[in-house]
Amino acid sequence: MKERELESLRAQVDTCQRCKLREGCQRVVFGEGNPEASLMLIGEGPGAEEDKLGRPFVGRAGQLLDKILEACGFERFTHTYIGNIVKCRPPQNRIPTDEERLTCRPYLHRQIGIIEPKIIVLLGATALQGLIDPQAKITKARGNWLMWQGIWVMPTYHPAALLRNPQLKRPTWEDFKKVVAKYRELVDPNHYSANC
Ligand code: SF4
Repeated sequence: MKERELESLRAQVDTCQRCKLREGCQRVVFGEGNPEASLMLIGEGPGAEEDKLGRPFVGRAGQLLDKILEACGFERFTHTYIGNIVKCRPPQNRIPTDEERLTCRPYLHRQIGIIEPKIIVLLGATALQGLIDPQAKITKARGNWLMWQGIWVMPTYHPAALLRNPQLKRPTWEDFKKVVAKYRELVDPNHYSANC
């Protein structure tokens, strides 16, 4: 049921031309994962690799994200659904404008409405500002649980930021440990992770 609803939304988004980002990208990157997942991850927008393949988080940052998930005992197609604030790649990987975020946001809201995750992890400032508060600062908000429309939300750093600044790996890992603890509390008390 959820899968069918997501596919119908995907068909709609695939033909979207509501903002200028569609003109400059190769593919719309809708999102992927388990439609029944209790854990949703939201990033900023597609980069070059994602644009080429039509899949989210498949470049270097995506590979790092997969490693973090693995350390937490999560696998992207089993435990998570991964999406972005905007579905089309901004030129030169620039940050999407407020207008682009607002224009694309109804699709993300609809995805969240279909998937009904219990936990959302916001990866980076754009995800935090795009979903929760345009003025929020990731350096202040990260690591602290927020409640948004009845869903537990954990903001943390974007994996691309960890590649640029390895010092952010430690705090990010602390944030993900909290996500694992919340997952055990809300979803599966027996969730296994060798690392936390
Ligand atoms: S970024 Fe979103 S709103 Fe803009 S064209 Fe792509 S799917 Fe449509």
